Amino acid sequence: MFNAILVEKGDAGPVGKVVALDDDKLPEGDVTVRVDYSTLNYKDGLAITGKMPVVRKYPMVPGIDFAGTVEASTNPKWKAGDKVILNGWGVGEGHWGGLAQRARVKGEWLTALPKGITGRQAMAVGTAGYTAMLCVIALENHGVKPASGSILVTGANGGVGSFAISFLSQLGYTVIASTGRVNEAEYLKSLGASEIIDRAELSAPGKPMGKERWAGAVDTVGSHTLANVCAQTKYGGTVAACGLAQGMDFPGSVAPFILRGVTLAGVDSVMAPAAVREAAWHRLAPLVNDKTLGAIAHDIGLAEALALAPDLIAGKVRGRVVVDVNR
Ligand code: NDP
Repeated sequence: MFNAILVEKGDAGPVGKVVALDDDKLPEGDVTVRVDYSTLNYKDGLAITGKMPVVRKYPMVPGIDFAGTVEASTNPKWKAGDKVILNGWGVGEGHWGGLAQRARVKGEWLTALPKGITGRQAMAVGTAGYTAMLCVIALENHGVKPASGSILVTGANGGVGSFAISFLSQLGYTVIASTGRVNEAEYLKSLGASEIIDRAELSAPGKPMGKERWAGAVDTVGSHTLANVCAQTKYGGTVAACGLAQGMDFPGSVAPFILRGVTLAGVDSVMAPAAVREAAWHRLAPLVNDKTLGAIAHDIGLAEALALAPDLIAGKVRGRVVVDVNR
């Protein structure tokens, strides 16, 4: 038996409960993992609350990422005792996920726990930190360097935003943080932000082009914010777009792309190939330390994850939430 959050389809929307399940209920897969830690991501909040239809079949164990130890494997790449992590691949959406003490998945979805960090640290980083690093790599791949100018990070108090600030500042970039919670300025500065702006500056419909303000951006917000971010990006700059906290729409103009050579670089963590994942985890591992993680992440248990999901979707949760599935 193992404990899990199980989300079932109710008449008035999905209903999540912590339940004990038999191992024979685990889905198909060639690797069984004893999960140590998972996390509560925006997408998990959507799965638990049903605010957006991310769950593709019910009942579903949410949890788009986990860290744990291989218990049994018929996949030649993995053996019992291996320390592994998983991010994405539709886990927690179409295949039972990490908010459980046990998971069974395809071996090709797993990544070895990077050297130098623990499973708990990997989950404190989680999909958010790994996505933040994919965004940093996207900026670098398009030639953005610390000397190019400041980098804007939107949704700064969120998981992706917090790690993007921390990684960029440790890599020598000057970071501007855009947030709806300017009262959290001290936290954002402790992560490495040099300047804080109110997200209201960017969230309303704007002009096709504005004053050139940043050499690059990590946008976790989408919608008018992304359009305004592109409109205020310096000539030749790059915007790494990974999120939709404001909305999925992109009500912008092509002006920044065709008149300033701005690049809009899409970032996806879910289906990223194994080599891309390994590169991102390898890059971020040396930038992870308990001081930063202590500021960004806090731990809860499975039952608390259920209760916290609506607050996460309402943008009331700061940083990362690590779920100790054995608590
Ligand atoms: P969080 O919920 O931790 O953070 C989102 C942040 O966005 C909030 O903290 C808030 O920051 C800001 N925000 C919330 N609502 C609004 C709004 N209406 N308008 C403007 N800003 C808003 O989420 P994550 O950091 O985990 O994820 C951020 C986004 O990235 C999500 O949309 C998520 O789905 C997406 N994502 C995409 C991935 C990919 O592979 N492409 C992977 C991981 C996440 P503040 O209070 O500072 O304003």
